[in-house]
Amino acid sequence: MIISMKLHATKAEVDAVCERIREFGYKVHSIEGEERVVIGVVGVVDVTACLESLEAMPQVEKAVRISAPYKFVSREFRHGRTVIRANGVDIGGDEFVVMAGPCSVESEKQILETARSVASTGARFLRGGAFKPRTSPYDFQGLEEEGLKLMLKAKAETGLGIITEVMSDRDVPLVAEYADILQIGARNMQNFALLKTLGRAGRPVMLKRGLSSTIKELLMSAEYVVAHGNPNVILCERGIRTFETATRNTCDIAAIAVLNELSHLPVILDPSHATGKRSLVPPLCRAGVAIGADGLIVECHPCPEKAMSDGAQSLSLPQFGQMMRDLKPYIELWKEARVSETALAV
Ligand code: PEP
Ligand code: MN
Repeated sequence: MIISMKLHATKAEVDAVCERIREFGYKVHSIEGEERVVIGVVGVVDVTACLESLEAMPQVEKAVRISAPYKFVSREFRHGRTVIRANGVDIGGDEFVVMAGPCSVESEKQILETARSVASTGARFLRGGAFKPRTSPYDFQGLEEEGLKLMLKAKAETGLGIITEVMSDRDVPLVAEYADILQIGARNMQNFALLKTLGRAGRPVMLKRGLSSTIKELLMSAEYVVAHGNPNVILCERGIRTFETATRNTCDIAAIAVLNELSHLPVILDPSHATGKRSLVPPLCRAGVAIGADGLIVECHPCPEKAMSDGAQSLSLPQFGQMMRDLKPYIELWKEARVSETALAV
């Protein structure tokens, strides 16, 4: 259940409503928005009695029953889109945001060359793993803090924001010092200790869908981060595991439209992990734009055949540039759709 307070309700009025909810024996999570306070009520058994009582309180604008188990990330909580600002760029707003870079940060030369190139063709964020979740313990595990320092150097030169993965709750403060967006990998989507820590990370989070996770589970994980204090969560579809073997994963492209219906959070498509195959990345990117994703995260490398991870799905830098040029007319249509949607909402 979600209680929306009247505009400019006082703290005493909010407290009175919370007290009434507690009298019913429920837990309260209140979130202060820019305009109004919204209260999430967890564990409601007798919803009708509670709703009726709260709606009778003069400070309450609206009390809504929510059937989904997630509340703060749902459309019922917020009708408009959540716009997340990172390194001066709005994600979820009127700009289609592209993030690009190698799977792993490997060397200064590699990351700087990549950053210069992708910045010149329109990317806004540099991706690159410094802490790498690898299926085999014998594979390259990442340069760790050294890799973060190299990314910072690339940011200083190009102005690109940094998005990089954090694998453990222990590393959150360190990675948050360097990153503009903290990436949570598919394998960690349900690492609840990590999700709770992200609530206090002070940085936006991009949460990747787990290999075998449902959309509901993805939203529940996002709910963890928001309920623990961080409303700035970006969702990412990166393909799921199915019986299909022609691609590395199966891109659930419809998930983007589903997430847009169910949630106000921005949604990013990762066509690289979704397909595992370089040639499939540009067509998937077009699909992502067309279906209304808020942006893309794409792997590219100065020399994909020498990449220490995910070379087969990485575009070369000229290929990435070409793809960005080819995407332009699609992104123009995307912008028109976004602007008319915003006009309708006003
Ligand atoms: C990555 O982005 O390089 C990565 C490991 O992605 P995922 O967690 O989606 O597998
Ligand atoms: Mn990768």
